[in-house]
Amino acid sequence: MDDSISYPAGQWPQMQPGWVWLCGAGPGDPGLLTLHALNALRQADVIVYDALVQKDILEWAPQAVHEYAGKRGGKPSAKQRDISLRLVDLAREGKRVLRLKGGDPFVFGRGGEEAQTLVQHGVGIRIIPGISAGIGGLAYAGIPVTHRDVNQSVTFVTGHDQSGNVTSSLDWNAISKGSQVIVIYMGMKHVARISQSLIDAGRNTSEPVAVVTTATTADQKVLESTLGTLVADIDASNLEPPAIICVGRSVLMRQVLDWQSMLDGQPPRDLDPLGRGRPAESA
Ligand code: SAH
Repeated sequence: MDDSISYPAGQWPQMQPGWVWLCGAGPGDPGLLTLHALNALRQADVIVYDALVQKDILEWAPQAVHEYAGKRGGKPSAKQRDISLRLVDLAREGKRVLRLKGGDPFVFGRGGEEAQTLVQHGVGIRIIPGISAGIGGLAYAGIPVTHRDVNQSVTFVTGHDQSGNVTSSLDWNAISKGSQVIVIYMGMKHVARISQSLIDAGRNTSEPVAVVTTATTADQKVLESTLGTLVADIDASNLEPPAIICVGRSVLMRQVLDWQSMLDGQPPRDLDPLGRGRPAESA
């Protein structure tokens, strides 16, 4: 990459001592970082990073202290508060603090809570969005999260709530009826309950589903399944989280858009997986 890229608007933002920048690191592939993220990596004194952040990314910040803040036992909510208060402490020590989180910090990443705590403690913040796994991870599997022939809506849901249970506030009936494509984060633990809820709500057992694990990394794996066979297919696979589960016909588009297999020399499986019978962009 060209190191001399100058910021279009003139100056790159400078990290100030005592400030915390909450930054998305994208789903894994370091090339999916934003230029703002790279700019922050080069300036930070301390980087507080999550389990989902690829370690290679930290090599761009040799000057910084790298502090791991992944989950290690304890109640998630208590732990979360500890992380936020640690950020407050570091800021008060006058450090330039980079809080680096997987994907986008405001998508199921508790970035909003951390930012809120920082502001409540009078700490200055900057937010740097990142590519969320539910969009970028699917793109690396050749699945467009929207496609005009498939869906005019997409719903992002979390598979479990703060207590680790299936999210009780989700209305699976409404989601099933209202959204052609459903993208589930943190869905592996409760996949049996979730798929049954969708079937009970009227989604077809033959509906395509993809499970994409460690998306955008060298270890990315993709399972193609259906709602009815999902649990058995996952059981028979050796897939491990983190995983994005995509329910809907957009999964079929992988048959033509699986660009990673094409890089490996495989031909597309089906140029017209929706059976449209005419060119993709004819009206
Ligand atoms: N803020 C993150 C999501 C954090 S929640 C984002 O925007 O992507 C953690 C969940 O994100 C994981 O359980 C998994 O569902 C998903 N996830 C994050 N990175 C992933 C990856 N590389 N591959 C597959 N799923 C991923």
